Amino acid sequence: MNKPPKKQPDFRMTPQRAGILHFLEGNKSHPSAEDIYARLRRKFPGMSFATVYNTLQSLLALGGLTEIKIDGSRARFDPDCKPHSHLMCVSCGTIADLPAPKLRAARAPKGFKVLRCNVEFYGVCRRCAPGTAKKETSSCQKKKRR
Ligand code: ZN
Ligand code: MN
Repeated sequence: MNKPPKKQPDFRMTPQRAGILHFLEGNKSHPSAEDIYARLRRKFPGMSFATVYNTLQSLLALGGLTEIKIDGSRARFDPDCKPHSHLMCVSCGTIADLPAPKLRAARAPKGFKVLRCNVEFYGVCRRCAPGTAKKETSSCQKKKRR
């Protein structure tokens, strides 16, 4: 079956999709699709992981959701689409918000128009490293993975 290319993704509302939307609304935990599925399958026992995944893809296409790539192991999702940065605890995977840094692309080649920038911070949260929090994380630790 050939589906026509969609310009505007349609979003048919179902109780399960409404549940996913409700879970995401104002959610600051930056959940993965697996997290959302684990949380909602109790409420919707018949719901498949594909339903969660497809709903997230639709929301991404509609612009109501942002995919965050800070976690190298799995995509995380953020209903907050305003520009901001993230920091992730490499121990527990918690992702927190940071205001968007005011960076100037001072070293961009001449004529290169910078449209956006993406800064990710990796470290250890206070809960995961109470002993080292004072001495190790006093300054901003920016760590590049890979
Ligand atoms: Zn942590
Ligand atoms: Mn965020």
